[in-house]
Amino acid sequence: MKALICVKRVIDYNVKIRVKTDKSGVETENVKMSMNPFDEIAVEEAVRMKEKGEIQEIVILSIGTDKSQETIRSGLAMGGDRGILVKTDNEQLEPLTVGKIIKAIYDNEKPDLVILGKQAIDDDCNQTGQIVATLLDVPQATFASELKKNNDNSYNVTREVDGGLETIKLNTPCVITTDLRLNEPRYASLPNIMKAKQKKIDILEIRSLNIDIKNRLEILEINEPPERKPGIKVEDVDSLVEKLKNEANVL
Ligand code: AMP
Repeated sequence: MKALICVKRVIDYNVKIRVKTDKSGVETENVKMSMNPFDEIAVEEAVRMKEKGEIQEIVILSIGTDKSQETIRSGLAMGGDRGILVKTDNEQLEPLTVGKIIKAIYDNEKPDLVILGKQAIDDDCNQTGQIVATLLDVPQATFASELKKNNDNSYNVTREVDGGLETIKLNTPCVITTDLRLNEPRYASLPNIMKAKQKKIDILEIRSLNIDIKNRLEILEINEPPERKPGIKVEDVDSLVEKLKNEANVL
């Protein structure tokens, strides 16, 4: 069995985002970039599956500029076997375009599992996994918090839903998107980081895939969130209750 893991290069979640002065986007120059955290969870899950002998190969796919090779290397250092970079100049591809590219790679690679993050923390779209499953016409399990392989190569996927935990069964090939509680990703060890430098990354020009990459949305402007008012200290519980009753907007 083979897994295709989709990883996006995003601004590191610890960085305080700065909006460009012309409001056209956010600053990415000289900003620490990392693998989207939900995608790290996807890589970790695939590595655990490989360690258990459930899958034999992990292919790490990223769509982005040359710099996305670093993101692929991080996935290879965690335990991925080889990488594919679909190279584009536009870092702001919409989920439909990303979905079509993933489909093109899927058609070539024929993986049994496609695992993505439930959402990219930069655009917060939460669309790509669903689009990929639709384009591929295969079953999907979104927001997975537990995966269990059955003897017939199907998967039981537990999802956190409003009423509790829902478990569904999917036949492979299928698409799975990861939720936060699926696992805790490992840190790559130094020897594995060194080994990852020797692993192969195939680079494909996006033009070679013949996909319409035109954006369908126009970002009108991006604004900083309003600044939070400073908090206040109260003397005792009575004054806290009094403030909550009468001045709830001060807190
Ligand atoms: P989104 O729908 O944009 O919130 O992204 C959901 C997931 O799709 C991410 O967690 C990634 O697994 C995958 N994805 C989105 N954009 C890319 C990209 N440029 N390269 C690789 N995977 C991506």
